[in-house]
Amino acid sequence: MNTLREDAQLLHEQVAPHLSDDQADDYDVDALETLFDCYVNTYRVPRNAAFDSVRNHVLKEADVDTEAFWASLRGGDQGTTEEPLPLAECTADGAWVTVRAKIVELWDPREDSIHQVGLIGDESGRLKFVAWAKSNPPVLEEGTTYTFKDVVVDEYDGNYSLKINSRSEIIEHAADSPETISSVGTMTTVYDGVFVAMQSQSGLIKRCTDPECTRVIQQGECSEHGSNEGEFDLRIKGVLDDGESVQECLFTAGMTEVVTGIDLEEAMQLASDALDISVVERRLTDLLIGRRYSVEGPILGRYLLVGEVSETPNRAFAQGYHDAVDDLLSEYGYDGPGLTAENIEDLPQTYDAPVAARGN
Ligand SMILES: [Zn+2]
Repeated sequence: MNTLREDAQLLHEQVAPHLSDDQADDYDVDALETLFDCYVNTYRVPRNAAFDSVRNHVLKEADVDTEAFWASLRGGDQGTTEEPLPLAECTADGAWVTVRAKIVELWDPREDSIHQVGLIGDESGRLKFVAWAKSNPPVLEEGTTYTFKDVVVDEYDGNYSLKINSRSEIIEHAADSPETISSVGTMTTVYDGVFVAMQSQSGLIKRCTDPECTRVIQQGECSEHGSNEGEFDLRIKGVLDDGESVQECLFTAGMTEVVTGIDLEEAMQLASDALDISVVERRLTDLLIGRRYSVEGPILGRYLLVGEVSETPNRAFAQGYHDAVDDLLSEYGYDGPGLTAENIEDLPQTYDAPVAARGN
C-alpha cells in the first residue's frame, strides 16, 4: 500500500491542473499529506478509503469543476484506421480520433458554414457529426459506412460531437465490405464500482416546458427559451470507481427509484417539506456514496445511461477494507465483543469524515 506521502503526491498530480494559482499553495503535496494524516489518524477513516474521502473533500472545498476533473482522469486511446475508436469512447474534448461509423441520419444544415450535419453510429453508440464547408469535405450518404480519420471530439454542455476538418480524411467502405457497420448502437457496457461522487444538477431538477426541449433550467431560465416555469424531474449524475478507472453514470427518474427507493413524488415531497430543492440531492448522496453497484447500459457521450442496476451482494467497501479494519482494530488493541471486520457497519462510514472535518 502507498504511504500517505505517495497518496498525497498522486492526489496532487490529479488535482493540481484544476486549481487556480492562488489555491496552489493551499493544496501542495505537504498540505495534502497533512490532510491524509488527519483523515487516517484523527478521523480514523480506513486507510484504503482515505484517498476517495480526501479527494472528495478537496474537490468540494477547492470548488473544482468536477466534470472537467473526471474527464481528465480518463484519457485513453485515440483509434487507428485498422482499429478505430468506438464512438462510445469519444469522450475527451479536443482529442483527435479515428472512428468507423455509418451515416444514420443527415439533417438540414442551419448555417452556410456547415457542409453536412447529422448522426453517425457504430455498434457502441451514436454521435452527432459536423463537416465544415470550408474544409471541402466529400458528400456523405445516408446508410454508408466510412472511416473518419483525424476528426476532433468536441464537447458542448455535456454533449459530444465529431468535427470533420480540413486535416480529416474520409474513407468510404463498400456496402458488402467487412468494415460495414450493420447494427448501430446496440452495445451496452457493464461497469462494477463503488459510488464515489454525486455530480451537480442531480436530485430534483427542472426541465424546460417547451415540448421540443428537455434542457435543465436554472434560476427559472432555459438557455434557449428564456424564462420558464419548468417541470420537475428526478435524476442522478454520479461517478462509479472500480479502483482502476471511473465511469460517469446517468440514472433517469425510474432508475433513481430503483436504486434509492425514492420516486419523483417523494422527492417533490421532501423538497416541499424542507422548502429546499437541494435536500433531495443530499439525501440521494447519503444513500449512495460508498456503496458498490453493477450497472449496465449504453454509453452516451461520457455517461453510461443506466438501464439496469443492482447492488452487488458483496460488501459495500473496496477490496482490502477488511484488512484495513483489522489493522486498525489491532492497532488500538480493541478486542471487545461484536466489533470485527465482518461486522463493521457500526463504524463511521467513510463519507462521515468530510462532514466531521467541516464541523471543526
Ligand atoms: Zn428550452
